[in-house]
Amino acid sequence: MAGALEGKAALITGGASGIGAACAVRFAQEGADVLLADLLPHRAADTVSAVEALGKRAMVVECDTSTEAANDAAAQACADEFGRLDVVVAAAGISNAEYVSGETTDLGDDRTASFITNQNVEHWEKVMAVNLTGVMMTDRSCARKMIELGNGGSIINIASIMAKFPQPGAANYCVSKAGVWMLTKVLAQELVQDGIRVNAIGPGFIETPMTAAISGNEELNQWVLSLTPMRRFGQPEEIAKVALFLASEEASYVTGEIIHPDGGWFTE
Ligand code: NAP
Repeated sequence: MAGALEGKAALITGGASGIGAACAVRFAQEGADVLLADLLPHRAADTVSAVEALGKRAMVVECDTSTEAANDAAAQACADEFGRLDVVVAAAGISNAEYVSGETTDLGDDRTASFITNQNVEHWEKVMAVNLTGVMMTDRSCARKMIELGNGGSIINIASIMAKFPQPGAANYCVSKAGVWMLTKVLAQELVQDGIRVNAIGPGFIETPMTAAISGNEELNQWVLSLTPMRRFGQPEEIAKVALFLASEEASYVTGEIIHPDGGWFTE
Protein backbone atom coordinates (compact mmCIF):
# COMPACT_ATOMS: atom_id res chain seq x y z
CA MET A 1 0.00 0.00 0.00
CA ALA A 2 1.33 3.46 -0.93
CA GLY A 3 2.49 5.62 1.96
CA ALA A 4 0.73 8.83 2.87
CA LEU A 5 3.57 10.89 1.37
CA GLU A 6 4.50 8.66 -1.59
CA GLY A 7 6.34 10.67 -4.25
CA LYS A 8 6.50 13.83 -2.12
CA ALA A 9 9.52 15.86 -1.03
CA ALA A 10 9.84 17.44 2.41
CA LEU A 11 12.18 20.17 3.64
CA ILE A 12 12.85 20.03 7.36
CA THR A 13 14.79 22.70 9.20
CA GLY A 14 16.46 21.58 12.40
CA GLY A 15 16.36 18.18 10.74
CA ALA A 16 19.60 16.96 12.29
CA SER A 17 18.17 16.53 15.78
CA GLY A 18 15.15 15.86 17.97
CA ILE A 19 11.72 16.63 16.51
CA GLY A 20 13.01 17.52 13.04
CA ALA A 21 14.97 14.27 12.74
CA ALA A 22 11.96 12.23 13.89
CA CYS A 23 9.80 13.95 11.25
CA ALA A 24 12.34 13.09 8.56
CA VAL A 25 12.29 9.40 9.41
CA ARG A 26 8.49 9.25 9.78
CA PHE A 27 7.98 11.02 6.46
CA ALA A 28 10.43 8.65 4.74
CA GLN A 29 8.48 5.70 6.15
CA GLU A 30 5.49 7.15 4.32
CA GLY A 31 7.31 7.53 1.01
CA ALA A 32 8.84 11.02 1.06
CA ASP A 33 12.34 12.13 0.12
CA VAL A 34 13.70 14.62 2.63
CA LEU A 35 16.00 17.60 2.69
CA LEU A 36 17.50 18.30 6.11
CA ALA A 37 18.53 21.92 6.67
CA ASP A 38 20.56 22.47 9.80
CA LEU A 39 23.42 24.46 11.27
CA LEU A 40 25.73 21.47 11.60
CA PRO A 41 25.18 19.06 8.68
CA HIS A 42 27.46 16.32 10.04
CA ARG A 43 25.05 15.84 12.95
CA ALA A 44 22.43 14.64 10.46
CA ALA A 45 24.40 11.50 9.54
CA ASP A 46 22.27 9.08 11.59
CA THR A 47 19.05 10.54 10.21
CA VAL A 48 20.35 10.29 6.66
CA SER A 49 21.22 6.64 7.25
CA ALA A 50 17.78 5.95 8.70
CA VAL A 51 16.05 7.59 5.72
CA GLU A 52 18.20 5.78 3.18
CA ALA A 53 17.62 2.46 4.94
CA LEU A 54 13.94 3.03 4.15
CA GLY A 55 14.79 3.34 0.46
CA LYS A 56 14.22 7.10 0.30
CA ARG A 57 16.60 9.91 -0.58
CA ALA A 58 18.02 12.31 2.00
CA MET A 59 19.94 15.50 1.27
CA VAL A 60 21.63 17.62 3.90
CA VAL A 61 22.11 21.35 3.49
CA GLU A 62 24.06 23.59 5.83
CA CYS A 63 21.60 26.32 6.70
CA ASP A 64 21.33 29.03 9.31
CA THR A 65 17.60 29.70 9.17
CA SER A 66 18.10 33.17 10.62
CA THR A 67 19.51 34.32 7.27
CA GLU A 68 17.25 34.78 4.28
CA ALA A 69 19.75 33.63 1.64
CA ALA A 70 20.26 30.30 3.44
CA ASN A 71 16.52 29.62 3.44
CA ASP A 72 16.27 30.51 -0.25
CA ALA A 73 19.18 28.18 -1.01
CA ALA A 74 17.61 25.31 0.93
CA ALA A 75 14.28 25.66 -0.89
CA GLN A 76 16.10 25.81 -4.23
CA ALA A 77 18.20 22.76 -3.34
CA CYS A 78 15.05 20.77 -2.57
CA ALA A 79 13.52 21.69 -5.92
CA ASP A 80 16.78 20.94 -7.76
CA GLU A 81 17.40 17.60 -6.07
CA PHE A 82 13.87 16.19 -5.91
CA GLY A 83 11.99 18.27 -8.46
CA ARG A 84 9.37 19.04 -5.82
CA LEU A 85 8.71 20.77 -2.52
CA ASP A 86 5.50 19.50 -0.96
CA VAL A 87 5.98 19.65 2.79
CA VAL A 88 7.92 21.97 5.08
CA VAL A 89 8.58 21.47 8.77
CA ALA A 90 10.11 24.57 10.35
CA ALA A 91 11.62 22.89 13.40
CA ALA A 92 14.89 24.80 13.80
CA GLY A 93 14.76 26.50 17.15
CA ILE A 94 16.61 27.36 20.31
CA SER A 95 15.48 27.55 23.90
CA ASN A 96 15.81 30.44 26.28
CA ALA A 97 19.61 30.12 26.35
CA GLU A 98 20.14 31.33 29.88
CA TYR A 99 17.47 28.97 31.21
CA VAL A 100 19.04 25.88 29.71
CA SER A 101 22.70 26.70 30.05
CA GLY A 102 22.32 27.36 33.73
CA GLU A 103 23.92 30.79 33.49
CA THR A 104 21.03 31.83 35.67
CA THR A 105 19.52 29.36 38.11
CA ASP A 106 16.41 31.29 38.95
CA LEU A 107 13.89 28.82 37.49
CA GLY A 108 15.15 26.03 39.74
CA ASP A 109 13.78 27.33 42.99
CA ASP A 110 10.67 29.13 41.96
CA ARG A 111 9.00 30.09 38.74
CA THR A 112 8.87 33.81 39.46
CA ALA A 113 12.26 34.82 38.06
CA SER A 114 11.97 37.91 35.92
CA PHE A 115 13.19 38.06 32.34
CA ILE A 116 12.65 41.80 32.42
CA THR A 117 15.04 42.48 35.30
CA ASN A 118 17.56 39.66 34.85
CA GLN A 119 18.26 38.95 31.20
CA ASN A 120 19.82 40.96 28.46
CA VAL A 121 18.49 42.17 25.13
CA GLU A 122 20.99 40.07 23.19
CA HIS A 123 19.26 36.92 24.43
CA TRP A 124 15.91 38.33 23.37
CA GLU A 125 17.20 39.16 19.90
CA LYS A 126 18.92 35.81 19.42
CA VAL A 127 15.82 33.82 20.31
CA MET A 128 13.62 36.00 18.11
CA ALA A 129 16.05 35.76 15.19
CA VAL A 130 15.96 31.96 15.15
CA ASN A 131 12.54 31.06 16.55
CA LEU A 132 10.38 33.72 14.93
CA THR A 133 12.16 35.59 12.11
CA GLY A 134 13.86 32.35 11.07
CA VAL A 135 10.53 30.51 10.83
CA MET A 136 9.04 33.40 8.86
CA MET A 137 11.96 33.30 6.41
CA THR A 138 11.79 29.51 6.02
CA ASP A 139 8.07 29.81 5.35
CA ARG A 140 8.45 32.59 2.78
CA SER A 141 11.35 30.95 0.91
CA CYS A 142 9.45 27.67 0.72
CA ALA A 143 6.09 29.28 -0.09
CA ARG A 144 7.64 31.15 -2.99
CA LYS A 145 9.15 27.92 -4.31
CA MET A 146 5.88 26.00 -3.81
CA ILE A 147 3.99 28.67 -5.74
CA GLU A 148 6.56 28.51 -8.54
CA LEU A 149 6.28 24.71 -8.71
CA GLY A 150 2.48 24.94 -8.70
CA ASN A 151 1.64 21.83 -6.67
CA GLY A 152 0.42 23.46 -3.47
CA GLY A 153 1.77 22.05 -0.23
CA SER A 154 1.73 21.87 3.54
CA ILE A 155 3.79 24.08 5.84
CA ILE A 156 4.12 23.01 9.47
CA ASN A 157 5.64 25.39 11.99
CA ILE A 158 6.88 24.04 15.30
CA ALA A 159 5.62 26.37 18.01
CA SER A 160 5.21 25.23 21.63
CA ILE A 161 2.72 25.11 24.49
CA MET A 162 4.69 28.19 25.53
CA ALA A 163 2.84 30.08 22.75
CA LYS A 164 -0.06 30.14 25.23
CA PHE A 165 1.60 29.49 28.61
CA PRO A 166 3.22 32.56 30.21
CA GLN A 167 6.43 31.19 31.73
CA PRO A 168 8.29 33.65 33.99
CA GLY A 169 11.94 33.91 33.00
CA ALA A 170 11.29 32.82 29.41
CA ALA A 171 9.60 35.84 27.88
CA ASN A 172 11.82 35.60 24.81
CA TYR A 173 10.91 31.97 24.12
CA CYS A 174 7.19 32.40 24.94
CA VAL A 175 6.83 35.51 22.76
CA SER A 176 8.73 33.90 19.88
CA LYS A 177 6.38 30.91 19.96
CA ALA A 178 3.25 33.05 20.32
CA GLY A 179 4.54 34.91 17.25
CA VAL A 180 4.90 31.64 15.35
CA TRP A 181 1.29 30.82 16.16
CA MET A 182 0.01 34.15 14.81
CA LEU A 183 2.37 33.93 11.83
CA THR A 184 0.85 30.54 11.05
CA LYS A 185 -2.69 31.92 11.09
CA VAL A 186 -1.82 34.88 8.88
CA LEU A 187 0.12 32.78 6.35
CA ALA A 188 -2.72 30.23 6.24
CA GLN A 189 -4.97 32.98 4.98
CA GLU A 190 -2.41 34.47 2.61
CA LEU A 191 -1.50 31.15 0.97
CA VAL A 192 -4.90 29.47 0.79
CA GLN A 193 -5.43 30.52 -2.83
CA ASP A 194 -2.17 28.82 -3.77
CA GLY A 195 -3.29 25.49 -2.34
CA ILE A 196 -0.81 25.74 0.53
CA ARG A 197 -2.01 24.80 4.01
CA VAL A 198 -0.14 26.30 6.96
CA ASN A 199 -0.46 24.82 10.45
CA ALA A 200 1.49 24.73 13.69
CA ILE A 201 2.32 22.12 16.27
CA GLY A 202 2.69 23.28 19.85
CA PRO A 203 4.39 20.42 21.72
CA GLY A 204 4.58 20.03 25.44
CA PHE A 205 7.88 18.88 26.95
CA ILE A 206 9.54 16.42 24.57
CA GLU A 207 12.66 14.36 25.28
CA THR A 208 15.27 15.89 22.93
CA PRO A 209 18.70 17.49 23.35
CA MET A 210 16.89 20.79 23.90
CA THR A 211 15.27 19.57 27.12
CA ALA A 212 18.15 17.44 28.40
CA ALA A 213 19.11 20.07 30.96
CA ILE A 214 15.54 20.07 32.27
CA SER A 215 14.94 16.32 32.42
CA GLY A 216 18.42 15.94 33.93
CA ASN A 217 17.62 18.30 36.79
CA GLU A 218 15.48 16.55 39.39
CA GLU A 219 13.66 19.68 40.47
CA LEU A 220 12.88 20.88 36.95
CA ASN A 221 11.98 17.35 35.90
CA GLN A 222 9.44 17.12 38.73
CA TRP A 223 8.06 20.53 37.82
CA VAL A 224 7.40 19.36 34.25
CA LEU A 225 5.85 16.08 35.36
CA SER A 226 3.62 17.81 37.90
CA LEU A 227 2.16 20.00 35.13
CA THR A 228 1.81 17.15 32.61
CA PRO A 229 -1.25 14.96 33.27
CA MET A 230 0.38 11.97 31.49
CA ARG A 231 3.30 12.33 33.94
CA ARG A 232 5.99 11.83 31.31
CA PHE A 233 7.90 13.70 28.63
CA GLY A 234 6.74 13.08 25.08
CA GLN A 235 8.95 11.42 22.48
CA PRO A 236 9.96 13.18 19.23
CA GLU A 237 8.21 10.40 17.30
CA GLU A 238 4.93 11.45 18.95
CA ILE A 239 5.33 14.90 17.40
CA ALA A 240 6.28 13.39 14.05
CA LYS A 241 2.94 11.53 14.00
CA VAL A 242 1.09 14.82 14.28
CA ALA A 243 3.32 16.37 11.61
CA LEU A 244 2.53 13.43 9.32
CA PHE A 245 -1.19 14.06 9.76
CA LEU A 246 -0.80 17.74 8.91
CA ALA A 247 1.47 16.92 5.96
CA SER A 248 -0.91 14.38 4.48
CA GLU A 249 -4.21 14.45 2.64
CA GLU A 250 -5.85 13.37 5.91
CA ALA A 251 -5.60 17.06 6.86
CA SER A 252 -6.90 18.39 3.53
CA TYR A 253 -9.43 20.72 5.24
CA VAL A 254 -7.11 21.84 8.07
CA THR A 255 -5.30 25.15 7.83
CA GLY A 256 -4.45 27.93 10.28
CA GLU A 257 -4.62 25.50 13.21
CA ILE A 258 -2.32 24.69 16.11
CA ILE A 259 -2.33 21.19 17.58
CA HIS A 260 -0.91 20.54 21.03
CA PRO A 261 0.60 17.07 21.58
CA ASP A 262 1.40 17.81 25.22
CA GLY A 263 0.30 14.90 27.42
CA GLY A 264 -2.79 16.82 28.52
CA TRP A 265 -1.06 20.05 29.59
CA PHE A 266 -3.93 22.14 28.29
CA THR A 267 -7.45 21.41 29.49
CA GLU A 268 -9.22 23.90 27.19
P1 NAP B 1 16.89 20.08 19.19
O1 NAP B 1 17.01 18.62 19.33
O2 NAP B 1 17.86 20.98 19.83
O3 NAP B 1 16.79 20.39 17.62
C1 NAP B 1 16.82 21.70 17.13
C2 NAP B 1 17.69 21.70 15.90
O4 NAP B 1 17.63 23.02 15.32
C3 NAP B 1 19.16 21.42 16.22
O5 NAP B 1 19.70 20.51 15.27
C4 NAP B 1 19.79 22.79 16.08
O6 NAP B 1 21.14 22.77 15.71
C5 NAP B 1 18.95 23.39 14.98
N1 NAP B 1 19.09 24.82 14.89
C6 NAP B 1 19.17 25.72 15.90
N2 NAP B 1 19.31 26.96 15.41
C7 NAP B 1 19.32 26.84 14.06
C8 NAP B 1 19.46 27.76 12.99
N3 NAP B 1 19.61 29.07 13.22
N4 NAP B 1 19.42 27.30 11.73
C9 NAP B 1 19.28 25.98 11.49
N5 NAP B 1 19.15 25.05 12.45
C10 NAP B 1 19.18 25.48 13.73
O7 NAP B 1 15.47 20.56 19.74
P2 NAP B 1 14.00 20.03 19.52
O8 NAP B 1 13.45 19.78 20.86
O9 NAP B 1 13.93 18.97 18.51
O10 NAP B 1 13.32 21.37 18.99
C11 NAP B 1 12.74 21.47 17.70
C12 NAP B 1 11.70 22.57 17.74
O11 NAP B 1 10.66 22.18 18.66
C13 NAP B 1 12.21 23.91 18.25
O12 NAP B 1 11.61 24.95 17.52
C14 NAP B 1 11.71 23.95 19.69
O13 NAP B 1 11.56 25.26 20.15
C15 NAP B 1 10.40 23.22 19.54
N6 NAP B 1 9.86 22.68 20.78
C16 NAP B 1 10.57 21.75 21.48
C17 NAP B 1 10.02 21.24 22.64
C18 NAP B 1 10.72 20.22 23.50
O14 NAP B 1 10.25 19.96 24.61
N7 NAP B 1 11.80 19.60 23.02
C19 NAP B 1 8.76 21.67 23.07
C20 NAP B 1 8.09 22.61 22.33
C21 NAP B 1 8.65 23.10 21.17
P3 NAP B 1 22.28 22.82 16.87
O15 NAP B 1 21.95 21.72 17.81
O16 NAP B 1 23.54 22.63 16.10
O17 NAP B 1 22.15 24.16 17.51
